[in-house]
Amino acid sequence: MTSPAAFAGWLDDTNDITKAFLAAGQIPGLINIAGGLPDPQVYPAAQIAEIAQRAVRDYPAETLGYGPLEGLPDLRSAIAERFSSDDLHLGPENVLVTTSGMQALDLLGKVLLDEGDVIAGQFPTYLGALDAWRPRKPTFRAMPLQSNDLDFTEAMQGAKFAYTVPNFSNPTGRLVPESTRRALVDAARTTGAWLVEDDPYGGLNYDSPLPPRLIDISAQSQPQADRAPYAGPVVYLGTLSKLIVPGLRIGWVIAAPAMIDALTLAKQGSDMCTSGLTQRMACEILNAGLIEAVNPVMLDLYRRRRDALCDALDRHLSTWFEWEHPEGGMFVWVTARDRALDTDALFKIGLEERVCFSPSSVFDATGVFRHGLRLNFTLNDETALEEAVRRLALATQRLVKP
Ligand code: PMP
Repeated sequence: MTSPAAFAGWLDDTNDITKAFLAAGQIPGLINIAGGLPDPQVYPAAQIAEIAQRAVRDYPAETLGYGPLEGLPDLRSAIAERFSSDDLHLGPENVLVTTSGMQALDLLGKVLLDEGDVIAGQFPTYLGALDAWRPRKPTFRAMPLQSNDLDFTEAMQGAKFAYTVPNFSNPTGRLVPESTRRALVDAARTTGAWLVEDDPYGGLNYDSPLPPRLIDISAQSQPQADRAPYAGPVVYLGTLSKLIVPGLRIGWVIAAPAMIDALTLAKQGSDMCTSGLTQRMACEILNAGLIEAVNPVMLDLYRRRRDALCDALDRHLSTWFEWEHPEGGMFVWVTARDRALDTDALFKIGLEERVCFSPSSVFDATGVFRHGLRLNFTLNDETALEEAVRRLALATQRLVKP
């Protein structure tokens, strides 16, 4: 019998860790602090059930049929209105509704990347973005946002786009300060690279007000006397996933109309349209103020868990590791004091001790950053977080003194 045709080459680029991640779910008693998952107890399930029922009853054709490629007009307008300000003038032509934030990343790859094209990426960077772009075979240029050198022109020169998560980045949890944001926008203008501002975590802000968004900074420097729709280089990505629930799979892109048109064409070959049902539900959720109602509950729960995780790290891991106390988001970024400590190896021993974390190699396009780990604090309660860190300490002890 003839063997089946081979899979595309990029599939061979996945590493062992990805396979081990997939297998980890099967281990009994495992504490998972690897993912970026919300705690389902914060989902306003009863209200969302009512909204779903009303949506189908009141809008049967819209919720059960095909819809416009760009998204429901009501939702596009609601998003444009929510993000507009004195500086940032947005109309529906600036908005594309996507089937989650992940689809937006995928579509960006489709419209911008030919083989070998350069992405200037925050370093370390979001694993899902690397996954979305890997099939297009881009070249990745690391752009460390925490460096003192605020000139990003070199990193962005010749790049198709720069990718950033300025609010409580995945994986580092870092908040990019205003001066760095201004420098990023300046460099995008100078080099002509698009500047992608991926913002799933801005709503999970535990300590102090956020600096302005890149898209707002960019709009400030654009002459808008005629209140023309935004036409700058920033491509802002939002999602309902961390604001309320991930299961609706609703995200959005806010960008110059030319970018929205290109992404719309790409979406046509992807899913034809995002679900009308979940889009209508998103409209109702925005209009009912449900995000604002749920947010304080989320912040209170996650703030306590962040503090519990950091306290547990203080007690159990400070001999070998240091970490940053994040002001928001879902993750604590931990790095080994000894750069030779290999967290890919620690990951495997961790699974034997029934704890699963994300090793830093998966957030590096070249896989060489191997002395860090990303820990999630939103899914598990304080007792489980303490136990997870205790197990991590046992695993580290085994690694350093075999
Ligand atoms: N960007 C970043 C940085 C993320 O961490 C995530 C979620 N893990 C996403 C985008 C995508 O989220 P979603 O597809 O659920 O909207």
